[in-house]
Amino acid sequence: MVLLENVNKIYRTKQGDIKALDKVSLHIKEGEFIVIRGPSGSGKTTLLLSIGGMLRPTEGQVIAGKRDIYRMSKKERAEFRAKNIGFVFQLFHLVPYLNIIENVLLPAGVGKVQIRSVDAEKLLKRLNLTDRMYHKPFELSAGEKQRTAIARAMLKNPRIILADEPTGNLDPENSEEIISRLAEFRHSGGTVIVVTHGKAVNQYADRIIYLEKGHIEKFSVSN
Ligand code: ADP
Ligand code: MG
Repeated sequence: MVLLENVNKIYRTKQGDIKALDKVSLHIKEGEFIVIRGPSGSGKTTLLLSIGGMLRPTEGQVIAGKRDIYRMSKKERAEFRAKNIGFVFQLFHLVPYLNIIENVLLPAGVGKVQIRSVDAEKLLKRLNLTDRMYHKPFELSAGEKQRTAIARAMLKNPRIILADEPTGNLDPENSEEIISRLAEFRHSGGTVIVVTHGKAVNQYADRIIYLEKGHIEKFSVSN
């Protein structure tokens, strides 16, 4: 359902050009659980952002369904993102002055995505956050913050969740919790692409992609 064809990404900086992605071709099937690994600076974040319609490649195509997402208008691409993509970050990216339910409801109304607050409440309950709903992010533990971010990503029922080192700031127990939530999302028909160094994903991964200096060094089905 998402096809990358010969994707190159060059960041142009004052110090010179940096090739972050080098001829990456990849076919992601609907319902797959994909893990991306690779050393720091190998292009993992760049790849996720490109797949998610947030970063235009310098060359090559990213095709979702039948459309090249970087040939859409800005507005169409924003709607595509709002409808189809949930993003989870290492540093949670919650809005500090909004409480948890407000954070989760934040994407509501973007790109015609309709979200009801009762659904947000149900989801927070499922993620064991009922009694944190009216707290601010600073009052939560790291694990609770990341569960909030997962709820925010899942609420609009996207087709794909992209997670960039979502367990990078969590202890093993909370890491497993987050990974199992991603696995649940996949079981309900979603596609998961997660960058992680952790081992908790091994039991769920359909494919592991190893990036090295911007290109796919190898694929494997397990570690
Ligand atoms: P990873 O997530 O695997 O650590 P990134 O995709 O963040 O790697 O970065 C890949 C390469 O591109 C690195 O060399 C990084 O320094 C560079 N890079 C990332 N973002 C930018 C940017 N906005 N401008 C310039 N260079 C960047
Ligand atoms: Mg990164």
